[in-house]
Amino acid sequence: MRGVAILGSTGSIGRSTLEVLRRQRDHFRLVALAAGQNRETLEEQVREWRPAFSGLVLGNGGTGPTGPEVLVEAATRPDVDIVVNAVVGAVGLDATLAALRAGKRVALANKETLVMAGELVARAAEQGGGEVVPVDSEHNAVLQCITGQEPALRRLILTASGGPFREWSADRLAHASVEDALRHPTWKMGNKITVDSATLVNKALELIEAHYLFGLSYDALEVVVHPQSIVHAFAEFQDGSVIAQLGFPSMELPILYALTHPTRLADTGTRRFDPVAAGPLTFEPVRSDVFGAFRAGVAAGRAGGTAPAIFNATNEVAVAAFLDRRIAFGRIGELIEGVLEEHTVVPADSIEAVRAADSWARTRATEVMQ
Ligand code: MG
Repeated sequence: MRGVAILGSTGSIGRSTLEVLRRQRDHFRLVALAAGQNRETLEEQVREWRPAFSGLVLGNGGTGPTGPEVLVEAATRPDVDIVVNAVVGAVGLDATLAALRAGKRVALANKETLVMAGELVARAAEQGGGEVVPVDSEHNAVLQCITGQEPALRRLILTASGGPFREWSADRLAHASVEDALRHPTWKMGNKITVDSATLVNKALELIEAHYLFGLSYDALEVVVHPQSIVHAFAEFQDGSVIAQLGFPSMELPILYALTHPTRLADTGTRRFDPVAAGPLTFEPVRSDVFGAFRAGVAAGRAGGTAPAIFNATNEVAVAAFLDRRIAFGRIGELIEGVLEEHTVVPADSIEAVRAADSWARTRATEVMQ
């Protein structure tokens, strides 16, 4: 029995993790739950699961501990073996680092922390003996393709659904509404990541994530648009062979594999694959001329140092403003490009450097919007 903590338990990935655990009660014990601000759902979860610990990041009154430190507290408990980090945004970083230093497996759905501080995450894992196992479907797919033959990996191709604006013109895209952006064709996810999928920022974040997870240069990392979201990633090996991982879109599969890697557990909870029902699979290039935020994100990844943290922080501010209807859709990419252009890249080799970059970008992005 392995002890599991879920950070972000009331969100989409958190709830899917509970679905997986419900079917795997013989193998995993839920020890800790931490949520952002949804007290009602957290209390329901606590009633069902009776975890040893539960806490809320934002909120007061009620029972149980509150405050940002509940994430680290849940993540570092001695009875926790695996931390599912499914919080949204930069707020997840401290808990990831603390869990890795405490020797835990971090099943990471919080891609922003790896993007901001990829080097620090690797160092924390080395220091404490922890490991990062990606939950993100593309990276989880890569892991499934390469396990046991990592040294022979030559190139990765991540797939992107293309989001709701795959065929929109640049002019129309500039004024897309919040409702348009939240209408994702294949994946049902939280609002922030759904907007990130519409701008293709999500895919730029994932390229950076892949760079840190699999140690490949950006020349060996590619993205292809695949509207059906059936193939999650392709891994190409030194001999030219390509292995892909397929399945109907479901986060429960990658979550389960992140818990069990490098082995597999029997599970019948997800829809069985049927190639005929999957229908024709198509692939097309990314329109990086139209999706400026994607272009800026890839450039930030290549620049390295603090540039990815700037990219991430500016995007978080811009997406929040867009969801609040304070800026137009087209402004998200412009804002990211503008703030990145003003930033002088320095090495992201300390938590202070990362935090400074993150907070500078948030302040600057807010100023530019006003
Ligand atoms: Mg993904």
